[in-house]
Amino acid sequence: MNQRPHVLILSGLDPSGGAGIQADIQAITALGCHPLPVITCLTVQDTLNVYNAEAINADMIRQQLECLSADVPIHAIKTGALGSAAIVDVLVQFVEDKQDIPLIVDPVIKAAGGGELADEALVSAMKERLFPIADVITPNGVELAQLGGIENERSAAETLIAQGCPAVLTTGGHGDEPQITNRLHRPGSPDAEWKLERRGGEYHGSGCTLAAAIAAGRAQGLDLDSAIEQAQGYVSKAIEHALTVGRGQPVPDRG
Ligand code: PLP
Repeated sequence: MNQRPHVLILSGLDPSGGAGIQADIQAITALGCHPLPVITCLTVQDTLNVYNAEAINADMIRQQLECLSADVPIHAIKTGALGSAAIVDVLVQFVEDKQDIPLIVDPVIKAAGGGELADEALVSAMKERLFPIADVITPNGVELAQLGGIENERSAAETLIAQGCPAVLTTGGHGDEPQITNRLHRPGSPDAEWKLERRGGEYHGSGCTLAAAIAAGRAQGLDLDSAIEQAQGYVSKAIEHALTVGRGQPVPDRG
């Protein structure tokens, strides 16, 4: 019988198929893992923006996690939009006795079009209770500034680390330098740095795709640096072949 590593995903549903749980499922499957998808919120959105979002009842999420984990081994966990602070608390409680499972946190706060995907209580819950137990968090430039301060990338990452976050992957995908620089900040060791070719433009769901691909690598047993390296290669290819879906940002072709 065949087996694949299992990645538990907690993300929102984007009906345009660009971001959220569909992005996660596609990336994780393409990299050879089996996704275990738990939907945290429903959204009203097209390729331009998010217009409404509604969290799933936190107790329903708790039941799904308990039911699933009694049956299926979990090799990594990836989170995206989490819907509510109550869902963060359910997740934190769920992983309490599972500290050996790598937890990749994409701290989704806003859609690229500006639509809100997290209220203040959810942002605080992520910062205070989820980040300290993550393997790595993967904020984009806007999220990094909101979470760690606007001064510069390094000081924002250091602020988050000082608040208990074990590792921060900062991504330069939303900047305008000729090359994209991604950096892994960890306390007590020099930053790891990757330079990638910039193709230009913005791609809907690229952050979700990167974090999900890192989780797949970790589920396969790669160390964090190697999982990031594999994920970046995968995302670059997906962006190279990006799909036009609607009037907004193109969508990475995740295969
Ligand atoms: N998750 C959901 C449900 C979303 O709707 C969005 C963006 O609209 C995201 C995550 C983040 O998308 P991106 O990977 O483009 O940052």
